[in-house]
Amino acid sequence: MNQILPEKYGIETSILDTSDPENVRAALRPNTKLVHIETPANPTLKVSDIATIAKLAHEANPDILVSVDNTFNTPYNVRPLDLGADIVIESLTKYINGHGDALGGSIATTKARTDQIRFTAQVNFGGIISPFNAWLINRGSVTLPLRIRQHNASALAIAKHLESLDVVRFVAYPGLESHPHHEVAVSQLARPDSGFGGVLSFGLDTNHDGYNRFVSKLNVITSAVSLGHDESLIVFLGEDDERQYLYPPEFHRGFFRLAVGLEDTDDLIRDIDHALVEAGFEV
Ligand SMILES: *Cc1c(COP(=O)(O)O)cnc(C)c1O
Repeated sequence: MNQILPEKYGIETSILDTSDPENVRAALRPNTKLVHIETPANPTLKVSDIATIAKLAHEANPDILVSVDNTFNTPYNVRPLDLGADIVIESLTKYINGHGDALGGSIATTKARTDQIRFTAQVNFGGIISPFNAWLINRGSVTLPLRIRQHNASALAIAKHLESLDVVRFVAYPGLESHPHHEVAVSQLARPDSGFGGVLSFGLDTNHDGYNRFVSKLNVITSAVSLGHDESLIVFLGEDDERQYLYPPEFHRGFFRLAVGLEDTDDLIRDIDHALVEAGFEV
């Protein structure tokens, strides 16, 4: 969005923190066509207020389209079209497939717009999902509700546990009352049994070596990128990251993004505690 859209297509962009709707209002221009938000944001877990942003964008200009990357929430937890968005994007690679073994994406919007996308992106540019991946994703998607209830419950339990440990500097998870956007996150939930997803970030009170020691002692949680997998995946981020200007200050000393999987919740908590002890932290 910073480079390819302006340089190749002449499309101007503004990148901003959309967790404050006033930032969005201030960035709207007479020629704004699309407001695209990712919520909760990867990896800060900042939550954007979809309804407020959709309302202010549409009031400024009814032709502006509001699109939401709903990958972290999934349709089980949040349904952005019901909150006033025009377009929802999901990485099918993540929770909707659910098993970390296929790549895909989806765009949900009106038929007129999906027809337009089909004929340009698919027919002309060739953006077509592989049939085998489509088959795997269809198969995985059937258990989405069951899996999301487990991801939601385990992630909340682990976030609360981490928050109780002195060695943990911060925990970013929208389901925690300490999260600055907790109330917005609650207001967006689609169903009585919706939750706040499986991804959280947390920082340890240590240095680079301490992070490495901790992650090397994990036995259940796997050190790898991605999320929405049945396995719990952890990745170290933040240090020397060129996008650090988008991170809150507590993230700058390094942090983990933990994508909580479908293993037994107590096994995951025990794995974290065990790795902390083995790495020399007091728990
Ligand atoms: C992974 C991810 C994407 C990209 O999805 P791919 O299927 O890997 O291309 C987009 N948005 C979010 C929030 C993601 O986590």
